[in-house]
Amino acid sequence: MASRVVVVGGGVIGAACTYFLTAAGAEVTLVEAQVVGGGTSSRCDGNVLAIDKSPGFDSQLGLRSQKLLAELAHVLGDFEYRSPGSYLVCDNDDEVEPAHTWTEALRESGLPVEFLEREEVHRRLPDLAADVPAGLYCASDATLNPLLYVQGLVAWARERGASVRDRSPVAALDASDGRVRGVVLASGEHLAADATVVAAGIATPALVAPLGIELPIRPRKGHLIVSARGRRFGDAKVMEFGYLMSKFGLERRVPPDVERYGVALVYEPTRAGNFLLGSSREFVGEDTESDPEVVRTIARRALRFYPGMRAATVVRTYAGLRPWTPDHLPVVSAAEGVPGLFVAAGHEGDGISLAAVTGEIVRDLVLGRETALDVAPLRLGRFGLGAA
Ligand SMILES: Cc1cc2nc3c(=O)[nH]c(=O)nc-3n(C[C@H](O)[C@H](O)[C@H](O)COP(=O)(O)OP(=O)(O)OC[C@H]3O[C@@H](n4cnc5c(N)ncnc54)[C@H](O)[C@@H]3O)c2cc1C
Repeated sequence: MASRVVVVGGGVIGAACTYFLTAAGAEVTLVEAQVVGGGTSSRCDGNVLAIDKSPGFDSQLGLRSQKLLAELAHVLGDFEYRSPGSYLVCDNDDEVEPAHTWTEALRESGLPVEFLEREEVHRRLPDLAADVPAGLYCASDATLNPLLYVQGLVAWARERGASVRDRSPVAALDASDGRVRGVVLASGEHLAADATVVAAGIATPALVAPLGIELPIRPRKGHLIVSARGRRFGDAKVMEFGYLMSKFGLERRVPPDVERYGVALVYEPTRAGNFLLGSSREFVGEDTESDPEVVRTIARRALRFYPGMRAATVVRTYAGLRPWTPDHLPVVSAAEGVPGLFVAAGHEGDGISLAAVTGEIVRDLVLGRETALDVAPLRLGRFGLGAA
């Protein structure tokens, strides 16, 4: 059993790994290049969704994570967790049949999802544009404040003995004779470990590449708009069904700028009394500057579904980089050819949702326990590249 563990990366994934490993009795050091929670995990929404996961394995991961999160809400300090469910709404009649099919498939996977005909969707969401033809509702979906969540996980672990090293970039994995034995910091300091978990989001490929592991994770940029406090448009999360089509790269019948920037409505009311509006999906490198044209497209898209938002005030915009993988599933895995090395990265738009289940799986892999779910679909070796 690995007793000393180094976790590289203090985003939501590294934080959850640190929490679960510490809770299981491991001696954990979390190493973060900048500040805990300062990466993509604070440049995102706080949706904890199962409704947007592919029916089957993906949605089971989502459900498991929701269950673990509900337990964490009793253990950690307040991180603005609540579970009001979430809605997907259709833009046009073309989307109604696919939305119906999606509902059925999710229901067969055991999710508490219902299809809402036109009248019912407008009864529940009275601010919606009158021509929205249908929707779906998932009762298990939840929401939280991502930064408070990350900080809560790390604070809990730190109070129980985990060591947290921020502003300590890892320069390299310490890999002598084919086994990873810890990390070397940019300062030159060595941190020894029986197990090293790389949870560095979009930086993960560069850290494992010197070991011959080619990891196809790419940054997929997403923008968000933050409103001022004031009128809100309901208490539950609302996304357009096209969000799924955009996430999974499917063709949509939408204006060209919406298509170009991968824009789909995401409305997220926060407990602070304002709301967030998203989102976009682009492969444009590692630039996190807000692009006014993308922001305008998101705002126009929001008005298509919520005409009443025209009077809302925007206080700021920001963008983050989702760690994308080609098959839309994260890598949560031992590196089969490299003893001592584990990878937990590539959660794209689902890292907040899947952090808890990821932490649980990493705990079980590192400590040699049986995992609650079959994790073969998350294996590093599935891409068939490099050492794993
Ligand atoms: C606009 C937008 C909206 C989103 N909305 C949602 C949502 O509603 N629900 C959801 O589930 N997901 C959402 N996501 C996705 C989610 O934010 C990510 O999946 C998640 O934050 C990834 O977490 P991570 O820990 O892997 O990466 P990060 O949060 O980026 O953490 C990686 C950490 O590793 C550190 N690091 C990098 N290199 C090194 C090094 N050499 N040494 C030490 N540390 C290093 C970085 O500094 C960083 O802090 C959204 C993303 C975006 C962009």
